Amino acid sequence: MGLLLKIFIPLLGVALAFYFYSAPENFNEEMFRGKRVIVTGASSGIGEQMAYHLARMEAHLLLTARTEAKLQKVVERCLELGAASARYVSGSMEDTTLPEVVVKEAENTWGGLDMLILNHIGSSYFNYFNGDVGHVRKLLETNFLSYVAMTVSALPMLKESEGSIVVVSSMAGKASGPFIAPYSATKFALDGFFSSLRNEFIMDKVNVSITLCILGYINTESAVRAVSHVIRDTPAPKEECALEILRGGALRQREVHYPRRLISSVILLRAIAPDFLDSLIRGSYHVENMTR
Ligand code: NDP
Repeated sequence: MGLLLKIFIPLLGVALAFYFYSAPENFNEEMFRGKRVIVTGASSGIGEQMAYHLARMEAHLLLTARTEAKLQKVVERCLELGAASARYVSGSMEDTTLPEVVVKEAENTWGGLDMLILNHIGSSYFNYFNGDVGHVRKLLETNFLSYVAMTVSALPMLKESEGSIVVVSSMAGKASGPFIAPYSATKFALDGFFSSLRNEFIMDKVNVSITLCILGYINTESAVRAVSHVIRDTPAPKEECALEILRGGALRQREVHYPRRLISSVILLRAIAPDFLDSLIRGSYHVENMTR
């Protein structure tokens, strides 16, 4: 079944990618020069890589995550790479006051904002759902409600600049596999909220773009540590993933799919043959390596 998933899905993806995203659009790295960008979850993984790309492209950066020591290092590296400016605010998104504090810092420093990149996630487990409702509630606070709160705080500045909101989600926010029930719930919530908001912006003529990023398995340390014993696929590179997210945000795309073919095919299969898709996903897991 795993082999079938590997062969069938990419083939379907070629057709789909061609259909949905025919001509490559014009992305120019200069689009970010001098732009004022907040990146959450920027102390490691994809967020850290986005910060480095943005630094090379000479953006102004405000980074946030919990671990101050890591943020300090990322900021130093961003300045070396050429960021127009780089600073950080450390704190946990479990703290409901943090979103406003971060956005206020941008307002006080820059007097405006061009792009809000929402990327952080709280830690969860990769295993059978253990019935812990408190954990789901906490994860919704970190992975979903703080995204809403950041958006609410940043919206006046984004309306002013006709800026962009980039929301980093997952294949688990479109089609869920086993062992990620709490995480998947938070990612589906992002799609519902931000897709509705996008419609409202269009109806209200608010020129703020919303880009939802649907990512597959990426080679960040935390993801590889969590799932590599069960998912044997080769993860896609975080550096390229980060750049694709930025490209999609700059081009004001509705969605970014990375790796593109895989994700586009999964979305199509989910719509036309959900049970078949579920069986492919289940078949691609090495459940014998799970410990309950
Ligand atoms: P990482 O675990 O590498 O990074 C997560 C970031 O969030 C870190 O900077 C971490 O820093 C920060 N963070 C963790 N807890 C909190 C908290 N309570 N408050 C504020 N910040 C917090 O994740 P990835 O780079 O792998 O993932 C980035 C995004 O990509 C996520 O939205 C994820 O869902 C999505 N994605 C990733 C995939 C993958 O395979 N890697 C697949 C699909 C989607 P610190 O610990 O210092 O707070």
